[in-house]
Amino acid sequence: MSAKLSLGCIADDYTGASDLANTLTRAGLRTVQTIGVPADDLALPEVDAVVVSLKSRSIEAGLAVTRSRDADKWLRGRGARHVLFKICSTFDSTDKGNIGPVMDALRADSGDSIVLVTPAFPENGRTVYQGNLFVGSVPLNESPLKDHPLNPMHDSNLVRVLARQSKTKVGLVDLATLSRGADAVRARLKDLAAKGIGAAVVDAVFDRDLETIGQVALDHRVSVGASGIGLGLARALVAAGSTKPDTLDAMAAVGGPAACLAGSCSQATLQQIANAEKVMPVLHLDPERVVAGKDEAQRALAWARDRIGDGPILIASSSTPDEVAALQSRHGRDAAGHAIEQSMADIAEGLVRAGVRRLVVAGGETSGAVVDRLGIPGFLVGAEIAAGVPVLRAVGAKDGEMLLALKSGNFGGPEFFSDALALMR
Ligand code: ADP
Repeated sequence: MSAKLSLGCIADDYTGASDLANTLTRAGLRTVQTIGVPADDLALPEVDAVVVSLKSRSIEAGLAVTRSRDADKWLRGRGARHVLFKICSTFDSTDKGNIGPVMDALRADSGDSIVLVTPAFPENGRTVYQGNLFVGSVPLNESPLKDHPLNPMHDSNLVRVLARQSKTKVGLVDLATLSRGADAVRARLKDLAAKGIGAAVVDAVFDRDLETIGQVALDHRVSVGASGIGLGLARALVAAGSTKPDTLDAMAAVGGPAACLAGSCSQATLQQIANAEKVMPVLHLDPERVVAGKDEAQRALAWARDRIGDGPILIASSSTPDEVAALQSRHGRDAAGHAIEQSMADIAEGLVRAGVRRLVVAGGETSGAVVDRLGIPGFLVGAEIAAGVPVLRAVGAKDGEMLLALKSGNFGGPEFFSDALALMR
């Protein structure tokens, strides 16, 4: 069993979890991202942080609370003193939750009197001033988030937004206080807590603000925010010398055959596939046959088995927007997407059975389907192949050592597949 975690994180969606895990890794914390709450006996390498990925952003609030509390219990069990509840940097939520209810429950479990809350991440254009969240240059309620299908955001004042969904009163630590440093923030939090205020939205406009926030947050047991506060917490832990010596090699070679799967039909992925054709065998699935049944996956696996001994291969379902639209109009968008995702998962499972140990997957939903099927409980985050796309080393997987790269939509440069394989040895 590994030593104590310095930081536990509970993310309310999978891509947010990946983003946070990548941010923590870049800031110097060795980080594992898990898929859901892990089993009690999951063997972890010596890491500083674990990010538990949930899918709790838009589910019923009671369920989000239960799952988040389970994750919290697991993280505390592994020694995490501080737990960050990771939300979207645009504060995606409704008056029913789920940010407020989850925060209330985690605060109650922790015994803390007050929780620091900030979705700010100045580097990515998310700033908070006087409690108002800005997305780039416009307030949240004027940003595209006002039309979000699940969580439309019509109020940029997070003190009000959070108060509507929380049982506690909500206060503000403003930028002027923050600019006077950590002790000024501590004093302000003490005043707020003395008034019975259980949550404080904290302004942050510059990167250095996150460092002050991270430093103060570590006095507490729970915080709420996006990858920005994660960065602040990581920097504070590194500065305090609370991280473990860097002995883990997430990038150590695993050998074995390599394969790429593409289910993303984004412009970037189509270009990346075209470039991969110059350097590796590429099989284009017939999407119509994929939707019709299992034969196409079997055909693809037979094709792959003949070639993986000689070098990497790529199997793609991806097609142009016109072809995608035509398939969707024949079968319905969800049915077509689901059938292709499941076929990709069948192929991934077959490839691993055939010995593949290095797997690159293009497509967010496609990656989700593949990871679920392979039953991988978590990943140690390695070096970045491209901005936001790290090499991942499977942790606790039944198939043993494996390296993966999971890329959504438009991520990665034109030679993404070769770039990935160059790092995945
Ligand atoms: P991205 O990250 O680019 O959004 P995703 O994998 O999340 O990629 O989504 C792509 C969706 O399109 C998946 O549901 C996938 O199964 C589906 N898909 C893949 N190929 C085709 C195709 N040829 N026609 C229609 N849908 C497809």
